[in-house]
Amino acid sequence: MEMVNSSQILSSVETLQSRIKGSVLIPGDADYAKASQPWNLSHSQHPAVVVMAKNAKDVAEAIHFADDNDFGVAILATGHGVSLAADNAVLINTSPMQAVRIDPVTKSAWVEAGVKWGSVLEKAQVFGLAPLLGSTTDVGVVGYTLGGGMGWLARKYGLSADSVNFFEMVTADGRILHVSQSENSDLFWALCGGGGSFGVITGMEIKLYAVDTVYAGNLLYPAQIAKEVFVHYKEWIANAPDELTSSISIMNFPPVPAVPEFLRGKSFAIVRGCYSGTIEKGEELLKWWREWQAPVIDDFKAIPFTMADVISNDPVDPVPDHSSAVWLREINEDVFDLMIKYTTMPSALTIVEVRHAGGAIARVKPGTNAYGNRDANHILHMLAFVPGPEAMQAARTTVTAFKHDLQPYTTGGVYINFLVGEEKWEQTKRAFSAETYQRLQVLKAKYDGKNRFRYSFNIPVAAKEGSSSVLDSINKLSEN
Ligand SMILES: Cc1cc2nc3c(=O)[nH]c(=O)nc-3n(C[C@H](O)[C@H](O)[C@H](O)COP(=O)(O)OP(=O)(O)OC[C@H]3O[C@@H](n4cnc5c(N)ncnc54)[C@H](O)[C@@H]3O)c2cc1C
Repeated sequence: MEMVNSSQILSSVETLQSRIKGSVLIPGDADYAKASQPWNLSHSQHPAVVVMAKNAKDVAEAIHFADDNDFGVAILATGHGVSLAADNAVLINTSPMQAVRIDPVTKSAWVEAGVKWGSVLEKAQVFGLAPLLGSTTDVGVVGYTLGGGMGWLARKYGLSADSVNFFEMVTADGRILHVSQSENSDLFWALCGGGGSFGVITGMEIKLYAVDTVYAGNLLYPAQIAKEVFVHYKEWIANAPDELTSSISIMNFPPVPAVPEFLRGKSFAIVRGCYSGTIEKGEELLKWWREWQAPVIDDFKAIPFTMADVISNDPVDPVPDHSSAVWLREINEDVFDLMIKYTTMPSALTIVEVRHAGGAIARVKPGTNAYGNRDANHILHMLAFVPGPEAMQAARTTVTAFKHDLQPYTTGGVYINFLVGEEKWEQTKRAFSAETYQRLQVLKAKYDGKNRFRYSFNIPVAAKEGSSSVLDSINKLSEN
């Protein structure tokens, strides 16, 4: 903070403000705290300067300012997925950049950097089209896509990162680039799943798909029969069509007034899913459950995809939580037993969910872009709401023990979108194959040699001196 108080920095902050359309905020300014706050309230960050960017030129000016004053550059759109805290950095807040344009002919959407999925979904659905959003419309399109982006249409249409036509991006030296498979293709490869460590995306064009109605919802069974439910689920998805993306979870509904009375303080085994084929086939698929055991709640039905949020019912208001995730080799009875063990009340965990991946995600050839772990079929996500330090301590202890016990069943890889804060930064390497990670480091050296964008995925700059022949050959690859 001392740095921004110096008259030299204050004067360059004033110069920066005079050059941009957006606003520059420093500690003490009215909107500074709101503009810096991560969505997860158990994280915080204290940037030296926040730039509320309105366009690519504002972003370029902010980057020049950071370079002149030797600051790192961090980026925040919604704050749902912050990595390393942007302390003493220039934080570029993209939330003022809100343009969305749908092209129903080419089935694509141009989306600016601050846009959340809700805005794209609403506008695309007018034409019967859908983007590849995740479990909530509240997450940012760009941040979600840079990490992969796996939602309720993932097994049918793949990852959001596999559905990008092009990016507009500002580099560490302030250039505005068009990045696609044919222009700056090395960067395109890196951005699709490789995160936000190469520059600031100011907008991107994504593909849309013809989806307007889905057969989706939740089946809630008493937690006491969770194991039977999960075993039955394993059989259900053994030959599931790609149109079905689903999950199983155990949810401990908190005993708070915001939760409906019939759920409050109770635990359920939940089967959740979204079928994007015909309604008749969706109903047919659900017979597997309806003819097995009657659930306590069955809200699977045909819904307009505009209502996609009701499938997961994720919280919208910021919450303090602690979470982690691991890729599983397979789901089996041992994994189910561990899920049950760690969520049986009293438990520090609020929810443990295993999502089914594979399908179209796995059909893209590994190495097509930076996204890794395509062959892993199940991602286990654990989350605890942590209203205070004691709950945080309990959550940390539980998550560590759970992950330790899961080790025989995990692939060792991580899904970076499901990690947050320091864990996201520390575990970055495990999101990629060794070759991909090296290649990302080489691209880092090419596009951000000073590692200004060091608050996103942790991708160190490849050493130039004594670079190995592997790095040399990767370098050649990335130049093609
Ligand atoms: C409630 C909830 C539900 C979620 N559901 C899903 C889901 O179903 N599937 C899934 O895959 N993920 C999901 N996520 C994870 C989410 O995709 C990541 O947290 C993602 O990083 C959020 O992006 P954001 O832009 O909203 O967040 P931000 O915190 O604003 O950004 C996250 C990171 O993305 C990078 N970034 C953002 N914008 C830019 C830019 N313009 N240029 C360069 N880098 C940028 C930066 O590194 C930044 O730190 C969920 C998260 C939450 C909290």
